[in-house]
Amino acid sequence: MTVGVLDYDDALASFDPVLGLEVHVELNTASKMFCGCANAFGAEPNTQTCPVCLGLPGSLPVVNAKAIESAIRIGLALNCSIAPWCRFARKNYFYPDMTKDFQTSQYDEPIAFDGWVEVEVDGERFRIEIERAHMEEDAGKLVHAGGVTGRIGDAEYSLVDYNRAGTPLIEIVTRPIRGTGAKAPQVAKAYVSYLRDLMLSLGVSDVRMEQGSLRCDANVSLMPKGATELGLRTETKNVNSLRSVERALTYEIQRQAAVLASGGNVHQETRHWHEEGYTTAGRSKEQAEDYRYFPEPDLVPVAPSPEWVEELRGTLPEQPQLRRARLRQAWGFTDLELQDVVNAGALDLVEATVAAGAGAQSARKWWTTELARRANEAGVDLAGLAITPAQVAQLQALVDAGTVNDKLARQVIEGVLAGEGSPAEVVAARGLAVVSDDGALSAAVDAAIAANPEVADRIRDGKVQAAGALIGAVMKDMRGQADAGRVRELILAKLA
Ligand code: ADP
Ligand code: MG
Ligand code: ZN
Repeated sequence: MTVGVLDYDDALASFDPVLGLEVHVELNTASKMFCGCANAFGAEPNTQTCPVCLGLPGSLPVVNAKAIESAIRIGLALNCSIAPWCRFARKNYFYPDMTKDFQTSQYDEPIAFDGWVEVEVDGERFRIEIERAHMEEDAGKLVHAGGVTGRIGDAEYSLVDYNRAGTPLIEIVTRPIRGTGAKAPQVAKAYVSYLRDLMLSLGVSDVRMEQGSLRCDANVSLMPKGATELGLRTETKNVNSLRSVERALTYEIQRQAAVLASGGNVHQETRHWHEEGYTTAGRSKEQAEDYRYFPEPDLVPVAPSPEWVEELRGTLPEQPQLRRARLRQAWGFTDLELQDVVNAGALDLVEATVAAGAGAQSARKWWTTELARRANEAGVDLAGLAITPAQVAQLQALVDAGTVNDKLARQVIEGVLAGEGSPAEVVAARGLAVVSDDGALSAAVDAAIAANPEVADRIRDGKVQAAGALIGAVMKDMRGQADAGRVRELILAKLA
């Protein structure tokens, strides 16, 4: 299926890509958008339903106030204007994932509009205009069973799970994004990643792409260099990882370039992304349904007061990129060091560890190396490890005081994770403290000298660097718990 793609650099030499990103965010409200059913992922199919979200005749929806609050906070965080008055609309379609035969959405009256955000790729900043952020409900989930592809084409039968029907969604739509050139796929990835961080910091969604709580439809078109009119776009649906956003767009740019370069026309259509690395055609614009939108008569208009909107503005967290810049500065990290922390999902943990008294570099080191390794082994998030930032700070204080060295500190971590208590308690219980007491060290040094007479002779002849071998022997003898600096002094004094 990978016929007809142009080399990426060749494609970019002749065409300018234009992006359009539609991102769906499932809100993490306790209940659904228009009924009291639980809004939780992963329950037994069809256990979280009621007459409203099943669309049974005579049932009446009521708007979830918490969802409106989240929608407004998202709108504000995207620098949008908030509509003082707006309505829901019915988007009519006939499909088994929506028993009402319409989806309650917003059409020409979105709750938030005209915003912008800025994202950074390789040190270059790109401004992305937000056309709208509107509220809607999610549909149910169809499972096509009995085939090999999991798609409807070769399925024997299909199952439908209405637990997801009625989940509150925010759809965030950009204006066409121009001027990103060859970086278009990276800009798209950075934008979706930015939205993910933003939703996390707002606390409005779990934003788990693999579970579908953040989904991206990626539109792209090409303009021949020098052209002023937009080309026809394709819309690649439900791309469900950051990496796939970048890959799908890269592929579409190469594919469209091949079509245009050979004198063909791009069809305005939806396409499906395949993880093997290509897209295939879905619905074309000509087949697109007419949704016959009209204002939803069963719901009152949404009219947030200016006071409420301002109150919600006051609850916005610091913007993620500003927070990172501030922390990088305060901690004296390089870009790479900060990126490491962010990638490890350790920003909050490092911040809390520093607040508990540890140096920033030490905090970074523990969370991105030893603890990251242990979390990985245990298959949990860093935050899920049985050690707190305060305990990590306490451990580092023990290292700084010379009570334990780095190697012993790793054993302390093992003890803390095993539930043996605080770092100080583990040091005491396991007897892990470094020994710097001359009495104990002196005997071990004498034994090492006696066991290595040639090394001792070399040191007596002035080859001080040979002391390393004796220090190693003492360390081994004392299970790593000798104070290496003091051992060295003793060796040199005895062999002077
Ligand atoms: P649809 O209903 O087809 O999904 P939307 O307006 O919801 O249309 O979203 C289309 C997305 O594509 C928006 O982000 C829009 O800015 C963008 N877009 C529109 N025209 C183009 C184009 N020619 N090239 C690239 N993106 C485009
Ligand atoms: Mg759309
Ligand atoms: Zn319900």
